Amino acid sequence: MIDESKYRTLLMAKREEIAGKLPRREELWIVQSNEQTETVQLAGQREFTARILERETKSLTQIGAALKRIDDGEFGICLECEEPIAPKRLAAVPWAAYCLHCQENRDAQDARQTVHTNLAA
Ligand SMILES: [Zn+2]
Repeated sequence: MIDESKYRTLLMAKREEIAGKLPRREELWIVQSNEQTETVQLAGQREFTARILERETKSLTQIGAALKRIDDGEFGICLECEEPIAPKRLAAVPWAAYCLHCQENRDAQDARQTVHTNLAA
């Protein structure tokens, strides 16, 4: 049996943590508005910040979805095959939406798509 209240606390703490260290959108905007005098370094920095923002926003979405699954009583169930996600995996990744097997399948798919996109670009 999954200790849902433990995971709820854990997920909410993680959400706070990420929200607290998110780069501000305004900072991103200031750099963007300086485009004409932009140096290569600045461009790299902006891209870096944008990437963090993108990744953290994704994490927040995943955490939010996990909290909703707790509310719905579906926490710890793989969205793909509907098998229980291994407790060890949940302990390591509390917002995991897929069991290890399905996650690996998805990662492999993502990797193929990325390669494809890069080739097309
Ligand atoms: Zn699965």
